[in-house]
Amino acid sequence: VSVFVSGATGFIAQHIVKSLLKKNYIVIGSVRSTAKGEHLSKLLGSDNFSYEIVEDIEKEGAFDAALQKHPEVSIFLHTASPFHFKATDIEKELLLPAVNGTKNALRAIQLHGKNVTNVVLTSSYAAISTTSVESNPENTLTEDSWNEITWDLALKDPVSGYRGSKTFAEKAAWEFLEKNKPQFSLTAINPSFVFGPQAFDSEVKDSLNTSSEVINSLLKLEPDGTIPPVRGGFVDVRDVADAHIAGFENPEAKGKRLLLNAGRFTAQSIIDILNESVPELKGKIPVGTPGSGKEVIASLATIDNSKTKKLLGVSEFIDLKTTVVDSVKQILDNRK
Ligand code: NDP
Repeated sequence: VSVFVSGATGFIAQHIVKSLLKKNYIVIGSVRSTAKGEHLSKLLGSDNFSYEIVEDIEKEGAFDAALQKHPEVSIFLHTASPFHFKATDIEKELLLPAVNGTKNALRAIQLHGKNVTNVVLTSSYAAISTTSVESNPENTLTEDSWNEITWDLALKDPVSGYRGSKTFAEKAAWEFLEKNKPQFSLTAINPSFVFGPQAFDSEVKDSLNTSSEVINSLLKLEPDGTIPPVRGGFVDVRDVADAHIAGFENPEAKGKRLLLNAGRFTAQSIIDILNESVPELKGKIPVGTPGSGKEVIASLATIDNSKTKKLLGVSEFIDLKTTVVDSVKQILDNRK
Protein backbone atom coordinates (compact mmCIF):
# COMPACT_ATOMS: atom_id res chain seq x y z
CA VAL A 1 0.00 0.00 0.00
CA SER A 2 1.44 3.39 -1.05
CA VAL A 3 1.04 6.41 1.21
CA PHE A 4 1.77 9.98 0.10
CA VAL A 5 2.92 12.31 2.90
CA SER A 6 3.10 16.03 2.13
CA GLY A 7 5.68 18.04 4.07
CA ALA A 8 7.63 14.87 4.87
CA THR A 9 10.56 16.76 6.40
CA GLY A 10 8.42 18.29 9.19
CA PHE A 11 8.74 17.44 12.88
CA ILE A 12 5.47 15.48 13.00
CA ALA A 13 5.74 14.09 9.46
CA GLN A 14 9.17 12.50 10.10
CA HIS A 15 7.61 10.47 12.90
CA ILE A 16 4.66 9.52 10.67
CA VAL A 17 6.96 8.41 7.84
CA LYS A 18 9.16 6.43 10.21
CA SER A 19 6.11 4.63 11.65
CA LEU A 20 4.64 3.96 8.20
CA LEU A 21 7.89 2.37 7.02
CA LYS A 22 8.02 0.24 10.16
CA LYS A 23 4.55 -1.01 9.24
CA ASN A 24 5.79 -1.89 5.73
CA TYR A 25 3.94 0.82 3.85
CA ILE A 26 5.55 2.30 0.73
CA VAL A 27 5.96 6.03 1.37
CA ILE A 28 6.25 8.89 -1.10
CA GLY A 29 7.05 12.14 0.67
CA SER A 30 6.83 15.62 -0.75
CA VAL A 31 9.75 17.89 0.19
CA ARG A 32 10.73 21.39 -0.90
CA SER A 33 14.14 20.66 -2.42
CA THR A 34 16.42 17.85 -3.59
CA ALA A 35 18.81 18.59 -0.73
CA LYS A 36 16.00 18.12 1.81
CA GLY A 37 14.81 14.94 0.07
CA GLU A 38 18.30 13.43 0.03
CA HIS A 39 18.84 14.33 3.66
CA LEU A 40 15.58 12.68 4.74
CA SER A 41 16.22 9.59 2.57
CA LYS A 42 19.56 9.10 4.31
CA LEU A 43 17.99 9.42 7.76
CA LEU A 44 15.26 6.91 6.90
CA GLY A 45 17.59 4.50 5.09
CA SER A 46 14.75 2.57 3.46
CA ASP A 47 14.15 1.48 -0.13
CA ASN A 48 10.43 1.88 0.57
CA PHE A 49 10.83 5.67 0.81
CA SER A 50 11.08 8.03 -2.14
CA TYR A 51 10.44 11.74 -2.49
CA GLU A 52 8.92 14.20 -4.92
CA ILE A 53 9.70 17.92 -4.95
CA VAL A 54 6.79 20.26 -4.18
CA GLU A 55 8.57 23.53 -3.63
CA ASP A 56 5.52 25.52 -2.61
CA ILE A 57 2.17 23.92 -1.78
CA GLU A 58 0.46 27.20 -2.54
CA LYS A 59 1.22 27.31 -6.26
CA GLU A 60 -1.73 26.25 -8.39
CA GLY A 61 -1.43 22.60 -9.34
CA ALA A 62 1.36 22.14 -6.78
CA PHE A 63 0.70 18.41 -6.30
CA ASP A 64 -0.40 17.51 -9.84
CA ALA A 65 2.94 16.27 -11.20
CA ALA A 66 3.79 14.32 -8.04
CA LEU A 67 0.49 12.45 -8.08
CA GLN A 68 0.53 11.90 -11.86
CA LYS A 69 3.83 10.15 -11.32
CA HIS A 70 2.37 7.96 -8.58
CA PRO A 71 -1.02 6.59 -9.63
CA GLU A 72 -0.46 3.73 -7.16
CA VAL A 73 -1.00 6.02 -4.14
CA SER A 74 -4.07 4.99 -2.14
CA ILE A 75 -3.63 7.06 1.04
CA PHE A 76 -2.77 10.78 1.18
CA LEU A 77 -1.63 12.43 4.43
CA HIS A 78 -1.54 16.22 4.12
CA THR A 79 0.71 17.57 6.88
CA ALA A 80 2.47 20.46 5.09
CA SER A 81 1.45 23.88 6.36
CA PRO A 82 3.39 26.85 7.70
CA PHE A 83 3.70 26.75 11.51
CA HIS A 84 5.50 29.74 12.97
CA PHE A 85 4.68 32.97 14.74
CA LYS A 86 7.07 35.24 12.84
CA ALA A 87 5.01 36.23 9.80
CA THR A 88 5.17 39.87 8.78
CA ASP A 89 2.62 39.44 5.96
CA ILE A 90 0.09 37.15 7.64
CA GLU A 91 -2.13 36.59 4.62
CA LYS A 92 0.76 35.75 2.32
CA GLU A 93 2.87 33.71 4.74
CA LEU A 94 0.20 31.86 6.73
CA LEU A 95 -3.41 32.05 5.51
CA LEU A 96 -2.97 31.58 1.77
CA PRO A 97 -0.39 28.76 1.86
CA ALA A 98 -2.46 26.82 4.42
CA VAL A 99 -5.78 27.22 2.60
CA ASN A 100 -4.57 26.98 -1.00
CA GLY A 101 -2.11 24.22 -0.11
CA THR A 102 -5.00 22.13 1.20
CA LYS A 103 -7.21 22.90 -1.82
CA ASN A 104 -4.35 22.09 -4.20
CA ALA A 105 -3.77 18.75 -2.51
CA LEU A 106 -7.45 17.77 -2.66
CA ARG A 107 -7.87 18.93 -6.26
CA ALA A 108 -4.78 16.98 -7.36
CA ILE A 109 -6.07 13.87 -5.60
CA GLN A 110 -9.43 14.21 -7.31
CA LEU A 111 -7.83 14.71 -10.72
CA HIS A 112 -4.85 12.36 -10.59
CA GLY A 113 -5.28 10.16 -7.53
CA LYS A 114 -7.89 7.75 -8.86
CA ASN A 115 -6.82 5.08 -6.35
CA VAL A 116 -6.86 7.32 -3.30
CA THR A 117 -9.47 6.13 -0.81
CA ASN A 118 -8.47 8.06 2.35
CA VAL A 119 -7.16 11.54 3.00
CA VAL A 120 -5.92 12.48 6.47
CA LEU A 121 -5.46 16.21 7.08
CA THR A 122 -3.23 17.53 9.86
CA SER A 123 -5.43 20.27 11.24
CA SER A 124 -4.99 21.57 14.79
CA TYR A 125 -6.56 22.39 18.13
CA ALA A 126 -6.16 25.92 16.74
CA ALA A 127 -9.14 25.10 14.48
CA ILE A 128 -11.19 23.97 17.51
CA SER A 129 -10.87 26.72 20.10
CA THR A 130 -11.35 30.48 19.93
CA THR A 131 -8.98 32.50 22.16
CA SER A 132 -11.84 33.99 24.20
CA VAL A 133 -13.51 30.58 24.65
CA GLU A 134 -10.18 29.12 25.76
CA SER A 135 -9.78 31.46 28.74
CA ASN A 136 -13.16 30.72 30.36
CA PRO A 137 -13.12 27.68 32.68
CA GLU A 138 -16.86 27.20 32.20
CA ASN A 139 -16.39 26.25 28.54
CA THR A 140 -15.81 22.75 27.21
CA LEU A 141 -14.20 22.09 23.83
CA THR A 142 -14.87 18.86 21.96
CA GLU A 143 -14.41 17.31 18.50
CA ASP A 144 -17.46 19.32 17.41
CA SER A 145 -16.10 22.74 18.42
CA TRP A 146 -14.84 25.25 15.85
CA ASN A 147 -12.65 28.30 16.24
CA GLU A 148 -14.96 31.21 15.37
CA ILE A 149 -12.14 33.47 14.16
CA THR A 150 -12.78 35.58 11.04
CA TRP A 151 -10.32 36.31 8.22
CA ASP A 152 -9.99 39.92 9.44
CA LEU A 153 -9.29 38.92 13.03
CA ALA A 154 -6.72 36.44 11.79
CA LEU A 155 -4.76 39.34 10.23
CA LYS A 156 -4.31 40.97 13.67
CA ASP A 157 -1.08 39.25 14.76
CA PRO A 158 0.96 36.12 13.82
CA VAL A 159 -0.59 33.92 16.53
CA SER A 160 -4.12 34.77 15.35
CA GLY A 161 -2.79 34.32 11.82
CA TYR A 162 -1.66 30.77 12.53
CA ARG A 163 -4.93 29.91 14.31
CA GLY A 164 -6.87 31.32 11.36
CA SER A 165 -4.71 29.45 8.85
CA LYS A 166 -5.58 26.09 10.42
CA THR A 167 -9.27 26.95 10.83
CA PHE A 168 -9.76 28.13 7.24
CA ALA A 169 -7.69 25.29 5.78
CA GLU A 170 -9.70 22.63 7.60
CA LYS A 171 -12.98 24.30 6.68
CA ALA A 172 -11.87 24.40 3.04
CA ALA A 173 -11.23 20.65 3.16
CA TRP A 174 -14.67 19.73 4.54
CA GLU A 175 -16.30 22.15 2.04
CA PHE A 176 -14.36 20.50 -0.79
CA LEU A 177 -15.80 17.13 0.20
CA GLU A 178 -19.30 18.49 0.49
CA LYS A 179 -19.17 20.21 -2.91
CA ASN A 180 -17.24 17.69 -4.97
CA LYS A 181 -18.27 14.38 -3.42
CA PRO A 182 -14.90 12.86 -4.34
CA GLN A 183 -14.00 9.16 -4.23
CA PHE A 184 -12.00 9.55 -0.99
CA SER A 185 -12.93 10.03 2.67
CA LEU A 186 -11.49 12.71 4.93
CA THR A 187 -10.24 12.51 8.52
CA ALA A 188 -8.92 15.58 10.34
CA ILE A 189 -6.31 15.29 13.08
CA ASN A 190 -6.52 18.16 15.58
CA PRO A 191 -3.58 18.09 18.01
CA SER A 192 -2.81 20.68 20.67
CA PHE A 193 0.87 21.69 21.16
CA VAL A 194 2.96 18.72 20.02
CA PHE A 195 5.97 17.89 22.20
CA GLY A 196 8.35 14.94 22.32
CA PRO A 197 11.67 13.99 20.77
CA GLN A 198 12.68 14.58 17.17
CA ALA A 199 12.35 11.44 15.04
CA PHE A 200 16.15 11.45 14.59
CA ASP A 201 18.70 12.62 17.20
CA SER A 202 20.67 14.38 14.47
CA GLU A 203 17.68 16.67 13.78
CA VAL A 204 18.22 18.46 17.11
CA LYS A 205 19.39 21.98 16.26
CA ASP A 206 19.96 25.10 18.42
CA SER A 207 16.51 26.26 17.38
CA LEU A 208 13.73 23.71 16.83
CA ASN A 209 10.30 23.63 15.16
CA THR A 210 7.77 25.97 16.80
CA SER A 211 6.19 23.57 19.32
CA SER A 212 9.44 21.85 20.32
CA GLU A 213 10.99 25.28 20.79
CA VAL A 214 8.46 25.93 23.60
CA ILE A 215 10.45 23.44 25.70
CA ASN A 216 13.86 24.19 24.14
CA SER A 217 13.48 27.93 24.88
CA LEU A 218 13.11 27.17 28.61
CA LEU A 219 16.52 25.49 28.56
CA LYS A 220 17.98 28.74 27.23
CA LEU A 221 16.77 30.74 30.28
CA GLU A 222 19.27 31.94 32.88
CA PRO A 223 18.49 30.97 36.51
CA ASP A 224 17.16 34.50 37.12
CA GLY A 225 15.33 34.62 33.78
CA THR A 226 11.61 35.28 33.39
CA ILE A 227 9.40 32.26 32.78
CA PRO A 228 7.28 32.99 29.69
CA PRO A 229 3.46 33.01 29.90
CA VAL A 230 2.99 30.20 27.36
CA ARG A 231 0.26 27.66 28.22
CA GLY A 232 -2.09 25.34 26.41
CA GLY A 233 -2.90 21.73 25.75
CA PHE A 234 -0.20 19.24 24.73
CA VAL A 235 0.17 15.80 23.17
CA ASP A 236 3.25 13.71 22.40
CA VAL A 237 4.39 13.46 18.78
CA ARG A 238 4.44 9.65 18.95
CA ASP A 239 0.73 9.64 19.79
CA VAL A 240 0.15 12.13 16.96
CA ALA A 241 1.93 9.88 14.45
CA ASP A 242 -0.11 6.85 15.59
CA ALA A 243 -3.35 8.81 15.22
CA HIS A 244 -2.49 9.76 11.62
CA ILE A 245 -2.13 6.08 10.81
CA ALA A 246 -5.33 5.15 12.66
CA GLY A 247 -6.91 8.00 10.70
CA PHE A 248 -6.89 5.80 7.58
CA GLU A 249 -6.53 2.29 9.01
CA ASN A 250 -9.57 2.55 11.27
CA PRO A 251 -12.77 2.73 9.20
CA GLU A 252 -14.54 4.48 12.08
CA ALA A 253 -12.27 7.51 11.64
CA LYS A 254 -13.80 8.37 8.25
CA GLY A 255 -15.44 11.79 8.26
CA LYS A 256 -14.27 12.47 11.83
CA ARG A 257 -12.12 15.02 13.61
CA LEU A 258 -9.68 13.43 16.06
CA LEU A 259 -8.92 15.82 18.91
CA LEU A 260 -5.51 14.90 20.30
CA ASN A 261 -4.82 16.28 23.75
CA ALA A 262 -3.12 14.65 26.73
CA GLY A 263 -3.65 17.47 29.22
CA ARG A 264 -2.74 21.08 29.96
CA PHE A 265 0.68 22.63 30.57
CA THR A 266 2.18 25.97 31.47
CA ALA A 267 5.85 26.97 31.20
CA GLN A 268 5.96 26.72 35.00
CA SER A 269 4.68 23.14 34.98
CA ILE A 270 7.39 22.20 32.46
CA ILE A 271 10.02 24.00 34.58
CA ASP A 272 8.82 22.06 37.64
CA ILE A 273 9.30 18.74 35.82
CA LEU A 274 12.78 19.77 34.66
CA ASN A 275 13.88 20.81 38.15
CA GLU A 276 12.52 17.61 39.69
CA SER A 277 13.50 15.06 37.06
CA VAL A 278 16.55 16.32 35.15
CA PRO A 279 19.37 16.64 37.73
CA GLU A 280 21.87 18.16 35.27
CA LEU A 281 19.63 21.23 34.91
CA LYS A 282 19.64 22.00 38.66
CA GLY A 283 20.67 25.59 39.27
CA LYS A 284 20.91 26.31 35.54
CA ILE A 285 17.28 27.23 34.85
CA PRO A 286 14.78 29.30 36.87
CA VAL A 287 12.68 27.79 39.66
CA GLY A 288 9.79 30.27 39.54
CA THR A 289 6.88 29.42 41.82
CA PRO A 290 6.68 25.62 41.79
CA GLY A 291 3.17 24.23 41.56
CA SER A 292 1.62 27.54 40.49
CA GLY A 293 0.89 26.25 37.00
CA LYS A 294 -2.15 24.49 38.45
CA GLU A 295 -3.99 27.76 39.11
CA VAL A 296 -3.41 28.94 35.56
CA ILE A 297 -4.64 25.62 34.20
CA ALA A 298 -7.78 25.83 36.38
CA SER A 299 -8.60 29.15 34.69
CA LEU A 300 -8.75 27.55 31.23
CA ALA A 301 -11.55 25.78 29.37
CA THR A 302 -11.98 22.01 29.66
CA ILE A 303 -10.96 19.84 26.72
CA ASP A 304 -13.15 16.75 26.35
CA ASN A 305 -11.77 14.37 23.74
CA SER A 306 -13.37 11.21 25.10
CA LYS A 307 -14.87 10.40 21.68
CA THR A 308 -11.41 10.44 20.09
CA LYS A 309 -9.87 8.30 22.82
CA LYS A 310 -12.66 5.77 22.48
CA LEU A 311 -12.26 5.65 18.71
CA LEU A 312 -8.49 5.20 19.00
CA GLY A 313 -8.84 2.71 21.86
CA VAL A 314 -6.45 4.81 23.95
CA SER A 315 -7.15 5.25 27.66
CA GLU A 316 -4.34 7.76 28.28
CA PHE A 317 -1.96 9.55 25.94
CA ILE A 318 1.74 9.95 26.87
CA ASP A 319 1.84 12.30 29.88
CA LEU A 320 3.57 15.66 30.34
CA LYS A 321 6.47 14.35 32.41
CA THR A 322 7.35 11.67 29.84
CA THR A 323 7.06 13.95 26.81
CA VAL A 324 9.08 16.73 28.49
CA VAL A 325 11.81 14.46 29.88
CA ASP A 326 12.18 12.56 26.58
CA SER A 327 12.40 15.84 24.63
CA VAL A 328 14.96 17.37 26.96
CA LYS A 329 17.12 14.26 27.32
CA GLN A 330 17.52 14.18 23.54
CA ILE A 331 18.47 17.85 23.46
CA LEU A 332 20.98 17.54 26.31
CA ASP A 333 22.54 14.36 24.85
CA ASN A 334 22.98 16.17 21.57
CA ARG A 335 24.81 19.05 23.25
CA LYS A 336 27.42 16.66 24.64
P1 NDP B 1 7.19 21.79 10.83
O1 NDP B 1 7.45 23.24 10.64
O2 NDP B 1 8.28 20.95 11.37
O3 NDP B 1 6.65 21.14 9.50
C1 NDP B 1 5.95 21.84 8.53
C2 NDP B 1 6.20 21.18 7.18
O4 NDP B 1 5.44 21.85 6.17
C3 NDP B 1 7.67 21.27 6.75
O5 NDP B 1 8.02 20.10 6.08
C4 NDP B 1 7.66 22.46 5.80
O6 NDP B 1 8.72 22.42 4.88
C5 NDP B 1 6.32 22.27 5.13
N1 NDP B 1 5.79 23.51 4.54
C6 NDP B 1 5.39 24.63 5.17
N2 NDP B 1 5.00 25.56 4.29
C7 NDP B 1 5.17 25.04 3.05
C8 NDP B 1 4.96 25.51 1.73
N3 NDP B 1 4.47 26.73 1.48
N4 NDP B 1 5.26 24.67 0.70
C9 NDP B 1 5.76 23.42 0.92
N5 NDP B 1 5.97 22.93 2.16
C10 NDP B 1 5.69 23.72 3.21
O7 NDP B 1 5.93 21.73 11.81
P2 NDP B 1 5.11 20.54 12.46
O8 NDP B 1 5.66 19.23 12.10
O9 NDP B 1 4.94 20.89 13.86
O10 NDP B 1 3.69 20.74 11.74
C11 NDP B 1 3.16 19.83 10.80
C12 NDP B 1 1.67 20.04 10.71
O11 NDP B 1 1.08 19.85 11.99
C13 NDP B 1 1.25 21.45 10.27
O12 NDP B 1 0.10 21.33 9.46
C14 NDP B 1 0.88 22.11 11.60
O13 NDP B 1 -0.03 23.16 11.43
C15 NDP B 1 0.25 20.95 12.32
N6 NDP B 1 0.18 21.07 13.77
C16 NDP B 1 1.32 21.16 14.52
C17 NDP B 1 1.25 21.25 15.88
C18 NDP B 1 2.48 21.35 16.72
O14 NDP B 1 2.37 21.72 17.88
N7 NDP B 1 3.65 21.00 16.20
C19 NDP B 1 -0.05 21.28 16.59
C20 NDP B 1 -1.19 21.15 15.71
C21 NDP B 1 -1.06 21.05 14.36
P3 NDP B 1 10.11 23.21 5.18
O15 NDP B 1 10.51 22.86 6.59
O16 NDP B 1 11.02 22.70 4.17
O17 NDP B 1 9.79 24.66 5.05
